[in-house]
Amino acid sequence: NTDIYYDDDADGSQLENATVAVLGYGSQGHAHALNLNDSGVDVIVGLREDSSSRDAAEADGLDVTTPVEAASQADIVSVLVPDTVQPAVYADIEPELEEGNTLQFAHGFNIHYNQIQPPEGIDVTMIAPKSPGHLVRRNYENDEGTPGLLAVYQDETGDAKERALAYAKGIGCTRAGVVETSFREETETDIFGEQAVLCGGIAELIKTGYETLVDAGYSPEMAYFECMNEMKLIVDLMYEGGLGAMWDSVSDTAEYGGLTRGDDVIDDHVRENMEEVLDQVQNGEFATEWISENQANRPVYTQLNQAEKDHEIEEVGERLRELFTWADEATEDEEESAKV
Ligand code: NDP
Ligand code: MG
Ligand code: MG
Repeated sequence: NTDIYYDDDADGSQLENATVAVLGYGSQGHAHALNLNDSGVDVIVGLREDSSSRDAAEADGLDVTTPVEAASQADIVSVLVPDTVQPAVYADIEPELEEGNTLQFAHGFNIHYNQIQPPEGIDVTMIAPKSPGHLVRRNYENDEGTPGLLAVYQDETGDAKERALAYAKGIGCTRAGVVETSFREETETDIFGEQAVLCGGIAELIKTGYETLVDAGYSPEMAYFECMNEMKLIVDLMYEGGLGAMWDSVSDTAEYGGLTRGDDVIDDHVRENMEEVLDQVQNGEFATEWISENQANRPVYTQLNQAEKDHEIEEVGERLRELFTWADEATEDEEESAKV
């Protein structure tokens, strides 16, 4: 069984005399910086001179300087700029890393695929909250935690894991539980998950279901509700109680039909496709492709991003969600007046 670490397993005093440089003030950056700061840790935010995030970080009361200056003052450098720009930012700050410092990540891509090769003498760790940054911040403010992953890639001080756990405590992850993994496992499972299931898989499942209904002559509105809107209700049940909660909650007809037909749709062919996707993650083919795509200014990304926006389901959804937002507000208003 996997070890899970909680508040009591983390020694916050590991960060008592440490300065943490948080590079980037986006989704994860703002959450880590503010949570650490509220936990009493000495935080300094590193942003480029013309950064659009500078005002926000300063308005939140944090010290802001350049990534190079922040890294030079810090004992722990938390790299929270987008994965695609991390190698360039790292090249700037590498000369500032001193023996015994920690390079800290929230995702393993650049270390695992050798885009960042840290020198000897420094610890390299990961604390990866399993949620968007805004939830990491909101949970912390509500005295709740966000589950996270811990990994140690390089332990030169002998304290790498202890310090990473203290960092996890500082951002609130040990309140919920921290699971130990490796940079390789975190990176490969994260990328496989977002491609095959979470982002790629689910978007294609929804669009294919929608198109099948519309092509058969059903109305786009009905197809949207059935294939997109209801997805959230089903996923909420799974989130709360697993597949069991979902099967328990739907009708017996839905359960029988789903159990007999689901594996006709997601058949062995899909499993083989998933294995192929996983191969490309494991052998580095996907990483190499994504790195060159960025070097070429993202031609494929730009085209696919636009095509997705132009899909008919997006237009139908926008129209319907507007109607239903109005309905939601009306209901809330009614509830409000009912209370009075
Ligand atoms: P964001 O895209 O939100 O980061 C944006 C921040 O990075 C901004 O402050 C931006 O400032 C700064 N930035 C962008 N380009 C540069 C640059 N060239 N030099 C200096 N600063 C720059 O990143 P995320 O928070 O999404 O991701 C950070 C890390 O966290 C990644 O490793 C990611 O994989 C990981 N992660 C993300 C999760 C998420 O839900 N978002 C979940 C778990 C892990 P500017 O105004 O200067 O552009
Ligand atoms: Mg990811
Ligand atoms: Mg139904």
